[in-house]
Amino acid sequence: VKSKYQKIKGTFDILPADTRLWKEMENILHNISEQFSYEEIRTPSIESIDLFKQNVGYETDVSKEMFTWEDHSHQQIALKPEMTAPVVRAYIEGGFFRSNPLCRLYYMDSLFRREKPQKGRQRQFNQFGIEAFGSSNIEQDVEVIMVAATCLKALNINDTTLHVNNIGSPETRTQYEALLKKYFAQNTRSMSSLSKKRLDTNPIRILDSKEKEDQSIIKNAPIVKELLNDSEKEDFNMLLSNLDALNIKYEESPYLVRGLDYYNGTTFEITTRSNKSQNALCGGGRYDFLVEKMGGPSTPAIGFAAGMERMIIESQYQVGKNSIDIYISSNDLNHSRKCFSIMQNLIDNNYTVFFDTNKKNVKNQMKDAIKRSASYLLIIDKNITVKNIKSNDEIAVSDFHELLNFLKNQ
Ligand code: AMP
Repeated sequence: VKSKYQKIKGTFDILPADTRLWKEMENILHNISEQFSYEEIRTPSIESIDLFKQNVGYETDVSKEMFTWEDHSHQQIALKPEMTAPVVRAYIEGGFFRSNPLCRLYYMDSLFRREKPQKGRQRQFNQFGIEAFGSSNIEQDVEVIMVAATCLKALNINDTTLHVNNIGSPETRTQYEALLKKYFAQNTRSMSSLSKKRLDTNPIRILDSKEKEDQSIIKNAPIVKELLNDSEKEDFNMLLSNLDALNIKYEESPYLVRGLDYYNGTTFEITTRSNKSQNALCGGGRYDFLVEKMGGPSTPAIGFAAGMERMIIESQYQVGKNSIDIYISSNDLNHSRKCFSIMQNLIDNNYTVFFDTNKKNVKNQMKDAIKRSASYLLIIDKNITVKNIKSNDEIAVSDFHELLNFLKNQ
Protein backbone atom coordinates (compact mmCIF):
# COMPACT_ATOMS: atom_id res chain seq x y z
CA VAL A 1 0.00 0.00 0.00
CA LYS A 2 1.10 3.52 -0.73
CA SER A 3 0.37 6.35 1.67
CA LYS A 4 -1.94 9.00 0.34
CA TYR A 5 0.50 11.61 1.61
CA GLN A 6 4.26 11.91 1.35
CA LYS A 7 6.64 13.99 3.40
CA ILE A 8 7.63 17.35 1.96
CA LYS A 9 10.79 17.26 -0.14
CA GLY A 10 13.87 17.92 1.96
CA THR A 11 12.25 16.81 5.24
CA PHE A 12 12.69 13.51 7.07
CA ASP A 13 11.01 11.44 9.74
CA ILE A 14 13.18 10.25 12.59
CA LEU A 15 11.74 6.80 13.14
CA PRO A 16 11.77 4.69 16.34
CA ALA A 17 14.80 2.72 15.15
CA ASP A 18 16.80 5.96 15.28
CA THR A 19 15.21 7.96 18.09
CA ARG A 20 17.17 6.04 20.73
CA LEU A 21 20.45 7.22 19.20
CA TRP A 22 19.05 10.74 18.90
CA LYS A 23 18.03 10.79 22.54
CA GLU A 24 21.38 9.43 23.61
CA MET A 25 23.15 12.06 21.54
CA GLU A 26 20.92 14.80 22.96
CA ASN A 27 21.68 13.62 26.52
CA ILE A 28 25.41 13.72 25.87
CA LEU A 29 25.17 17.24 24.42
CA HIS A 30 22.99 18.48 27.31
CA ASN A 31 25.40 17.03 29.85
CA ILE A 32 28.56 18.40 28.27
CA SER A 33 27.03 21.87 27.85
CA GLU A 34 26.02 21.88 31.49
CA GLN A 35 29.44 20.64 32.59
CA PHE A 36 30.89 23.73 30.94
CA SER A 37 28.16 25.82 32.68
CA TYR A 38 26.24 26.71 29.53
CA GLU A 39 22.49 27.10 30.09
CA GLU A 40 19.83 25.96 27.66
CA ILE A 41 17.76 28.47 25.71
CA ARG A 42 14.68 27.68 23.59
CA THR A 43 13.28 30.25 21.19
CA PRO A 44 10.16 30.25 18.96
CA SER A 45 10.25 28.63 15.51
CA ILE A 46 8.93 31.80 13.91
CA GLU A 47 10.52 35.23 13.95
CA SER A 48 10.16 38.38 11.91
CA ILE A 49 11.89 38.19 8.53
CA ASP A 50 13.88 41.34 9.31
CA LEU A 51 15.71 39.63 12.16
CA PHE A 52 17.53 37.44 9.65
CA LYS A 53 17.48 39.80 6.70
CA GLN A 54 19.02 42.77 8.45
CA ASN A 55 21.46 40.94 10.67
CA VAL A 56 22.74 37.65 9.36
CA GLY A 57 22.68 37.93 5.60
CA TYR A 58 19.51 35.97 4.85
CA GLU A 59 17.73 36.79 1.58
CA THR A 60 20.41 39.39 0.84
CA ASP A 61 22.85 36.63 -0.06
CA VAL A 62 21.93 34.63 -3.14
CA SER A 63 22.07 31.15 -1.67
CA LYS A 64 20.44 31.90 1.67
CA GLU A 65 16.70 31.53 1.35
CA MET A 66 14.07 31.15 4.02
CA PHE A 67 10.49 29.93 4.28
CA THR A 68 8.56 33.16 4.69
CA TRP A 69 5.00 34.45 4.53
CA GLU A 70 2.84 37.41 5.43
CA ASP A 71 0.31 36.68 8.17
CA HIS A 72 -3.20 38.11 8.56
CA SER A 73 -1.95 41.27 10.24
CA HIS A 74 0.61 41.85 7.48
CA GLN A 75 3.53 40.80 9.66
CA GLN A 76 6.40 39.33 7.66
CA ILE A 77 7.22 35.99 9.26
CA ALA A 78 10.06 33.50 8.71
CA LEU A 79 10.66 29.99 9.95
CA LYS A 80 14.04 30.41 11.63
CA PRO A 81 16.93 29.38 9.38
CA GLU A 82 19.64 29.76 12.06
CA MET A 83 19.93 30.30 15.78
CA THR A 84 22.44 33.06 16.41
CA ALA A 85 20.06 35.92 15.56
CA PRO A 86 17.16 34.52 17.68
CA VAL A 87 19.49 33.89 20.61
CA VAL A 88 20.92 37.40 20.38
CA ARG A 89 17.39 38.82 20.16
CA ALA A 90 16.36 36.88 23.28
CA TYR A 91 19.59 37.86 25.04
CA ILE A 92 18.87 41.55 24.44
CA GLU A 93 15.12 41.32 25.13
CA GLY A 94 15.74 39.39 28.33
CA GLY A 95 18.29 41.97 29.52
CA PHE A 96 20.86 39.21 30.14
CA PHE A 97 23.68 41.66 29.56
CA ARG A 98 22.68 43.29 32.87
CA SER A 99 21.97 40.19 34.93
CA ASN A 100 24.64 37.91 33.54
CA PRO A 101 27.74 39.69 32.25
CA LEU A 102 29.39 36.42 31.21
CA CYS A 103 26.40 34.67 29.72
CA ARG A 104 26.78 31.21 28.20
CA LEU A 105 23.86 29.67 26.34
CA TYR A 106 23.27 26.49 24.34
CA TYR A 107 20.44 25.18 22.20
CA MET A 108 19.18 22.19 20.24
CA ASP A 109 16.56 23.09 17.71
CA SER A 110 15.00 22.52 14.29
CA LEU A 111 15.89 24.99 11.57
CA PHE A 112 14.40 25.60 8.15
CA ARG A 113 16.19 26.61 4.97
CA ARG A 114 14.77 26.78 1.48
CA GLU A 115 17.86 25.20 -0.05
CA LYS A 116 18.00 22.75 -2.88
CA PRO A 117 17.62 19.41 -1.09
CA GLN A 118 20.53 17.04 -1.61
CA LYS A 119 22.42 14.44 0.39
CA GLY A 120 23.32 15.98 3.75
CA ARG A 121 21.34 19.13 3.02
CA GLN A 122 17.77 19.19 4.27
CA ARG A 123 15.06 21.83 4.34
CA GLN A 124 14.34 21.07 7.97
CA PHE A 125 17.29 19.94 10.07
CA ASN A 126 18.53 20.13 13.64
CA GLN A 127 21.40 22.03 15.15
CA PHE A 128 23.16 21.95 18.46
CA GLY A 129 25.08 25.11 19.27
CA ILE A 130 26.46 27.40 21.92
CA GLU A 131 26.84 31.17 22.23
CA ALA A 132 29.09 32.86 24.81
CA PHE A 133 28.46 36.54 25.47
CA GLY A 134 30.55 39.05 27.38
CA SER A 135 34.19 38.10 26.95
CA SER A 136 36.48 39.43 24.25
CA ASN A 137 39.39 37.48 25.67
CA ILE A 138 40.92 34.80 23.45
CA GLU A 139 40.43 32.34 26.32
CA GLN A 140 36.72 32.39 25.47
CA ASP A 141 37.52 31.32 21.90
CA VAL A 142 39.60 28.42 23.25
CA GLU A 143 36.76 27.35 25.54
CA VAL A 144 34.17 27.41 22.74
CA ILE A 145 36.37 25.22 20.53
CA MET A 146 37.05 22.98 23.52
CA VAL A 147 33.28 22.44 23.98
CA ALA A 148 32.93 21.47 20.30
CA ALA A 149 35.89 19.08 20.47
CA THR A 150 34.61 17.52 23.72
CA CYS A 151 31.18 16.93 22.17
CA LEU A 152 32.58 15.23 19.08
CA LYS A 153 34.84 13.04 21.20
CA ALA A 154 31.94 12.00 23.45
CA LEU A 155 29.83 11.19 20.39
CA ASN A 156 32.63 9.02 19.10
CA ILE A 157 33.13 11.09 15.95
CA ASN A 158 36.79 10.66 15.20
CA ASP A 159 37.79 11.29 11.65
CA THR A 160 37.47 15.06 11.67
CA THR A 161 39.58 18.11 10.94
CA LEU A 162 39.33 21.37 12.85
CA HIS A 163 40.07 24.34 10.59
CA VAL A 164 40.90 27.65 12.27
CA ASN A 165 41.54 31.16 11.09
CA ASN A 166 41.42 34.75 12.30
CA ILE A 167 39.78 37.31 10.04
CA GLY A 168 40.64 40.38 12.11
CA SER A 169 38.54 43.46 12.72
CA PRO A 170 35.75 44.93 10.57
CA GLU A 171 38.34 47.36 9.17
CA THR A 172 40.53 44.44 8.16
CA ARG A 173 37.48 42.91 6.56
CA THR A 174 36.80 46.02 4.48
CA GLN A 175 40.41 46.09 3.27
CA TYR A 176 40.33 42.38 2.54
CA GLU A 177 37.05 42.67 0.70
CA ALA A 178 38.54 45.30 -1.63
CA LEU A 179 41.63 43.16 -2.20
CA LEU A 180 39.53 40.08 -2.98
CA LYS A 181 37.19 41.96 -5.26
CA LYS A 182 40.12 43.13 -7.33
CA TYR A 183 41.63 39.65 -7.44
CA PHE A 184 38.40 37.81 -8.32
CA ALA A 185 37.43 40.43 -10.91
CA GLN A 186 40.59 39.48 -12.78
CA ASN A 187 39.71 35.80 -12.63
CA THR A 188 36.07 35.55 -13.67
CA ARG A 189 36.63 33.43 -16.76
CA SER A 190 36.30 30.00 -15.14
CA MET A 191 34.30 31.18 -12.12
CA SER A 192 30.96 29.57 -11.17
CA SER A 193 27.86 31.61 -11.85
CA LEU A 194 27.03 31.71 -8.12
CA SER A 195 30.42 33.25 -7.35
CA LYS A 196 30.05 35.73 -10.19
CA LYS A 197 26.84 36.92 -8.57
CA ARG A 198 28.67 37.29 -5.26
CA LEU A 199 31.48 39.34 -6.76
CA ASP A 200 29.52 42.57 -6.36
CA THR A 201 27.40 41.75 -3.33
CA ASN A 202 29.74 39.79 -1.05
CA PRO A 203 33.10 38.80 -2.60
CA ILE A 204 34.32 37.30 0.69
CA ARG A 205 31.68 34.58 0.39
CA ILE A 206 33.33 33.36 -2.80
CA LEU A 207 35.98 31.86 -0.52
CA ASP A 208 33.25 29.63 1.01
CA SER A 209 32.29 28.31 -2.41
CA LYS A 210 32.14 24.56 -2.72
CA GLU A 211 31.83 24.74 -6.53
CA LYS A 212 34.57 22.77 -8.28
CA GLU A 213 35.43 25.39 -10.87
CA ASP A 214 36.13 27.99 -8.16
CA GLN A 215 38.69 25.98 -6.24
CA SER A 216 41.79 26.80 -8.30
CA ILE A 217 40.94 30.53 -8.22
CA ILE A 218 40.41 30.43 -4.47
CA LYS A 219 43.69 28.58 -3.95
CA ASN A 220 45.69 31.58 -5.16
CA ALA A 221 43.58 34.34 -3.62
CA PRO A 222 45.20 36.83 -1.21
CA ILE A 223 45.05 35.72 2.44
CA VAL A 224 43.66 37.76 5.30
CA LYS A 225 46.54 36.94 7.66
CA GLU A 226 48.75 39.44 5.89
CA LEU A 227 46.37 42.22 6.91
CA LEU A 228 46.16 41.36 10.63
CA ASN A 229 47.68 43.74 13.16
CA ASP A 230 50.11 42.63 15.87
CA SER A 231 47.54 42.11 18.60
CA GLU A 232 45.31 40.04 16.28
CA LYS A 233 48.29 37.93 15.30
CA GLU A 234 49.19 37.50 18.96
CA ASP A 235 45.61 36.40 19.77
CA PHE A 236 45.69 33.86 16.98
CA ASN A 237 49.00 32.44 18.17
CA MET A 238 47.67 32.19 21.70
CA LEU A 239 44.59 30.33 20.47
CA LEU A 240 46.78 27.86 18.60
CA SER A 241 49.16 27.33 21.51
CA ASN A 242 46.22 26.60 23.83
CA LEU A 243 44.78 24.11 21.35
CA ASP A 244 48.22 22.47 21.18
CA ALA A 245 48.33 22.24 24.97
CA LEU A 246 44.86 20.66 24.99
CA ASN A 247 46.01 18.25 22.33
CA ILE A 248 43.23 19.44 20.00
CA LYS A 249 44.55 18.98 16.48
CA TYR A 250 43.87 21.73 13.95
CA GLU A 251 44.77 23.02 10.56
CA GLU A 252 45.27 26.70 9.84
CA SER A 253 42.86 27.53 7.03
CA PRO A 254 43.67 30.97 5.63
CA TYR A 255 40.54 31.04 3.48
CA LEU A 256 38.06 30.12 6.19
CA VAL A 257 36.14 33.38 6.49
CA ARG A 258 32.59 32.15 7.13
CA GLY A 259 31.15 34.66 4.73
CA LEU A 260 28.48 36.27 6.87
CA ASP A 261 29.19 39.94 7.53
CA TYR A 262 28.93 39.68 11.28
CA TYR A 263 32.00 37.57 11.94
CA ASN A 264 35.33 38.96 13.14
CA GLY A 265 38.42 37.50 14.81
CA THR A 266 38.42 33.72 15.25
CA THR A 267 36.56 31.59 12.72
CA PHE A 268 36.52 27.81 12.76
CA GLU A 269 34.92 24.84 11.13
CA ILE A 270 35.03 21.11 11.81
CA THR A 271 34.76 18.85 8.78
CA THR A 272 34.76 15.11 8.30
CA ARG A 273 37.69 13.70 6.39
CA SER A 274 35.43 12.14 3.80
CA ASN A 275 35.17 13.57 0.33
CA LYS A 276 31.46 14.22 0.61
CA SER A 277 30.48 17.65 -0.62
CA GLN A 278 28.46 18.33 2.54
CA ASN A 279 31.27 17.44 4.94
CA ALA A 280 30.95 20.34 7.42
CA LEU A 281 29.85 19.19 10.86
CA CYS A 282 30.25 22.38 12.80
CA GLY A 283 30.98 26.04 12.13
CA GLY A 284 31.63 28.92 14.43
CA GLY A 285 33.32 32.19 15.13
CA ARG A 286 33.40 35.48 16.91
CA TYR A 287 30.77 38.15 16.30
CA ASP A 288 31.66 41.08 18.53
CA PHE A 289 29.43 43.61 16.75
CA LEU A 290 26.14 41.77 16.28
CA VAL A 291 24.62 42.46 19.72
CA GLU A 292 25.13 46.19 19.26
CA LYS A 293 23.86 46.07 15.69
CA MET A 294 20.69 44.45 16.98
CA GLY A 295 20.09 47.19 19.53
CA GLY A 296 21.90 45.86 22.60
CA PRO A 297 24.96 47.31 24.30
CA SER A 298 28.34 46.61 22.74
CA THR A 299 28.97 42.97 23.75
CA PRO A 300 31.65 40.61 22.48
CA ALA A 301 30.39 37.14 21.59
CA ILE A 302 31.45 33.84 20.06
CA GLY A 303 29.65 30.61 19.28
CA PHE A 304 29.28 27.63 17.01
CA ALA A 305 26.52 25.54 15.45
CA ALA A 306 26.78 21.84 14.65
CA GLY A 307 24.48 19.84 12.38
CA MET A 308 22.89 17.02 14.38
CA GLU A 309 21.91 14.86 11.37
CA ARG A 310 25.48 14.98 10.11
CA MET A 311 26.86 14.17 13.59
CA ILE A 312 24.53 11.16 13.82
CA ILE A 313 25.79 9.89 10.47
CA GLU A 314 29.44 10.23 11.52
CA SER A 315 29.01 8.94 15.07
CA GLN A 316 30.33 5.48 15.90
CA TYR A 317 28.36 5.58 19.13
CA GLN A 318 26.50 2.34 19.85
CA VAL A 319 23.18 2.21 21.65
CA GLY A 320 21.57 -0.88 23.10
CA LYS A 321 18.11 -2.10 22.13
CA ASN A 322 15.02 -0.92 23.97
CA SER A 323 14.37 -3.48 26.69
CA ILE A 324 11.10 -4.56 28.26
CA ASP A 325 11.10 -5.86 31.82
CA ILE A 326 7.65 -7.36 31.96
CA TYR A 327 5.34 -8.55 29.20
CA ILE A 328 1.80 -8.63 30.53
CA SER A 329 -0.55 -11.28 29.26
CA SER A 330 -4.15 -11.02 30.36
CA ASN A 331 -6.69 -12.50 28.03
CA ASP A 332 -9.94 -12.13 29.88
CA LEU A 333 -11.61 -8.73 30.16
CA ASN A 334 -12.97 -9.77 33.55
CA HIS A 335 -9.42 -9.39 34.91
CA SER A 336 -8.86 -5.96 33.44
CA ARG A 337 -9.01 -4.09 36.71
CA LYS A 338 -6.59 -6.43 38.48
CA CYS A 339 -4.33 -6.24 35.46
CA PHE A 340 -4.27 -2.41 35.38
CA SER A 341 -3.68 -2.18 39.12
CA ILE A 342 -0.60 -4.42 38.85
CA MET A 343 0.55 -2.55 35.77
CA GLN A 344 0.28 0.80 37.57
CA ASN A 345 2.26 -0.58 40.51
CA LEU A 346 4.96 -1.89 38.19
CA ILE A 347 5.21 1.47 36.44
CA ASP A 348 5.40 3.27 39.79
CA ASN A 349 8.27 0.95 40.73
CA ASN A 350 10.15 1.90 37.55
CA TYR A 351 9.64 -1.29 35.54
CA THR A 352 9.15 -1.18 31.78
CA VAL A 353 6.01 -3.02 30.75
CA PHE A 354 4.43 -4.14 27.51
CA PHE A 355 0.70 -4.89 27.69
CA ASP A 356 -0.74 -6.99 24.90
CA THR A 357 -4.10 -5.32 24.36
CA ASN A 358 -4.65 -7.51 21.31
CA LYS A 359 -5.33 -10.41 23.61
CA LYS A 360 -3.61 -13.12 21.64
CA ASN A 361 -3.28 -16.46 23.43
CA VAL A 362 -0.48 -17.07 25.93
CA LYS A 363 1.55 -19.17 23.48
CA ASN A 364 1.67 -16.35 20.95
CA GLN A 365 2.32 -13.84 23.66
CA MET A 366 5.32 -15.86 24.86
CA LYS A 367 6.71 -15.81 21.31
CA ASP A 368 6.11 -12.08 21.07
CA ALA A 369 7.74 -11.50 24.48
CA ILE A 370 10.88 -13.33 23.31
CA LYS A 371 10.92 -11.31 20.08
CA ARG A 372 10.72 -8.10 22.07
CA SER A 373 13.50 -9.27 24.44
CA ALA A 374 11.29 -9.08 27.52
CA SER A 375 12.73 -10.47 30.75
CA TYR A 376 9.49 -11.77 32.31
CA LEU A 377 6.09 -12.89 31.20
CA LEU A 378 3.34 -12.03 33.65
CA ILE A 379 0.16 -14.00 33.15
CA ILE A 380 -2.85 -12.50 34.85
CA ASP A 381 -6.03 -14.55 34.97
CA LYS A 382 -7.70 -16.00 38.06
CA ASN A 383 -4.15 -16.35 39.35
CA ILE A 384 -1.01 -14.34 38.83
CA THR A 385 1.92 -16.24 37.38
CA VAL A 386 5.32 -14.78 36.65
CA LYS A 387 7.81 -16.52 34.41
CA ASN A 388 11.48 -15.77 33.90
CA ILE A 389 11.79 -16.03 30.14
CA LYS A 390 15.48 -16.96 30.12
CA SER A 391 15.49 -19.60 32.86
CA ASN A 392 11.88 -20.70 32.39
CA ASP A 393 11.43 -20.53 36.19
CA GLU A 394 7.90 -19.63 37.08
CA ILE A 395 5.93 -19.11 40.25
CA ALA A 396 2.43 -18.14 41.26
CA VAL A 397 2.19 -14.99 43.35
CA SER A 398 -0.84 -13.90 45.33
CA ASP A 399 -0.48 -10.14 45.05
CA PHE A 400 1.72 -7.30 43.84
CA HIS A 401 3.80 -7.35 47.00
CA GLU A 402 4.83 -10.96 46.36
CA LEU A 403 5.48 -10.20 42.71
CA LEU A 404 7.79 -7.35 43.66
CA ASN A 405 9.66 -9.59 46.10
CA PHE A 406 10.12 -12.19 43.39
CA LEU A 407 11.41 -9.61 40.88
CA LYS A 408 13.77 -8.05 43.40
CA ASN A 409 15.27 -11.38 44.36
CA GLN A 410 16.01 -12.47 40.82
P1 AMP B 1 25.65 26.99 9.40
O1 AMP B 1 24.56 27.47 10.33
O2 AMP B 1 25.30 27.15 7.95
O3 AMP B 1 27.00 27.51 9.79
O4 AMP B 1 25.72 25.42 9.59
C1 AMP B 1 26.24 24.79 10.74
C2 AMP B 1 26.12 23.30 10.56
O5 AMP B 1 24.75 22.92 10.41
C3 AMP B 1 26.78 22.77 9.30
O6 AMP B 1 28.13 22.53 9.52
C4 AMP B 1 25.99 21.49 9.04
O7 AMP B 1 26.49 20.44 9.84
C5 AMP B 1 24.61 21.85 9.52
N1 AMP B 1 23.73 22.24 8.39
C6 AMP B 1 23.64 23.45 7.82
N2 AMP B 1 22.70 23.47 6.84
C7 AMP B 1 22.18 22.21 6.81
C8 AMP B 1 21.14 21.59 6.03
N3 AMP B 1 20.47 22.25 5.11
N4 AMP B 1 20.87 20.28 6.26
C9 AMP B 1 21.54 19.59 7.23
N5 AMP B 1 22.51 20.14 7.99
C10 AMP B 1 22.82 21.43 7.80
